[in-house]
Amino acid sequence: MAGTKTLESTRLAIEGGPRAKTTPYGAGKRFGKEELAQLREALEQNTLFYFKGKKVRAFTEKFASMIGAPHCVATSSGTAAIHVALSTLGVGVGDEVITSPLTDMGTVIGILFQNAIPIFADVEPHTYNLDPGAVERAVTPRTKAIVAVHLAGNPCDMDALLFLSQKYSVPIIEDCAQAFGTLYRGRKAGTLGVLGCFSTNDFKHISTGDGGLIVTAHKALAGRAFEITDKNYYRQGEHAGKSPRFLAPNYRMTELQGAVGLAQLDRLGTVCRRRNELGDRLSLLISGTEGVQPHEITPGGVCTYFNYMARIETGRFKGGLDGFIGALNAEGVPAWRHYPKTLYEADLFANRTIYHESPFPLEGTGRSYSYPKGLCPVAEEITGSSFSLPVSEFFTDRDIEETAQAVRKVAQALLR
Ligand SMILES: *Cc1c(COP(=O)(O)O)cnc(C)c1O
Repeated sequence: MAGTKTLESTRLAIEGGPRAKTTPYGAGKRFGKEELAQLREALEQNTLFYFKGKKVRAFTEKFASMIGAPHCVATSSGTAAIHVALSTLGVGVGDEVITSPLTDMGTVIGILFQNAIPIFADVEPHTYNLDPGAVERAVTPRTKAIVAVHLAGNPCDMDALLFLSQKYSVPIIEDCAQAFGTLYRGRKAGTLGVLGCFSTNDFKHISTGDGGLIVTAHKALAGRAFEITDKNYYRQGEHAGKSPRFLAPNYRMTELQGAVGLAQLDRLGTVCRRRNELGDRLSLLISGTEGVQPHEITPGGVCTYFNYMARIETGRFKGGLDGFIGALNAEGVPAWRHYPKTLYEADLFANRTIYHESPFPLEGTGRSYSYPKGLCPVAEEITGSSFSLPVSEFFTDRDIEETAQAVRKVAQALLR
């Protein structure tokens, strides 16, 4: 009888067996009376304009002090933060910006809006972050910046990237949209490059609905970023009263977002600590599972797991990646393909329709750019062999144990 029980519990849920995940995942409230109190204060100011009110300013000052950066500028989104950072560094028509092909569109939207060209460098197979060797091979005299994405809260190999930054005099913008609380050799992500960009959209570690933050150690860059975020209306400083010297968008954050952000920052430490704990525990519990490669953390890194991304040796499993994910879903684990394609396989690149019918700036700046299949072979392999597992600060230890159990069970059952 004991034998049949064992058999029964290893039978996949997708084949009618019992689910590995027996209880619902932990959930909780992200917003409470602290956010409400801040929102009330914001409204009672009788203005929601950042330059008149106190909330956005307090939000940026508090974040700056938490991360240990002298300056911080708020924006309307993470995409906006990166766009402003690029313009702050003078990235413009025909400039090349090296970045990762495994990321959110928000990483490259600003590059294209500046009429600059995203140059995709390949990534490392298990950290999923920029491979410094590939970055170096992508450097040309036109390279104006590198956008280093700390994917899923796992830091890039920053020693190597900062070495290249020095060697070629190309500044690094850190895309920290998924990397609140991330550490690299004891230093905080966002303070390693020239400018660090964060997102507070509703999916990120903390939420203001939408929003973004730029941190920097350089006063002049902070001043420029502040101006570019607000149409190059010079509300203060050396250019006060002058007319816009070049094109800048309106990416202002409102006092309502600032107010919520201020309260959210008090939760950030706990959120990051717990996510780090749960993600690292998941790695420990699934390591050694045949055919499954856990999310590898960069040496010297502390990861705050925006999500958890694992890879499988697809050829070794019946049903391949989709079969594996389908079986996990049936076990009660909401695994998904986070990056089903590299960024350069998106339609706007594949069809060369950046500005509706126009391929500009891939054509028309003196050089022609294209993104053929095989451009970043490691990234392409990852898209076909990786899946994400959810991580939330509200998960219990049991949630992680049952998730790991499901991964091991599915791997064992589907292994050829
Ligand atoms: C979320 C995200 C962005 C964009 O942030 P938004 O606030 O949604 O504009 C950029 N890069 C990465 C890696 C992201 O995850």
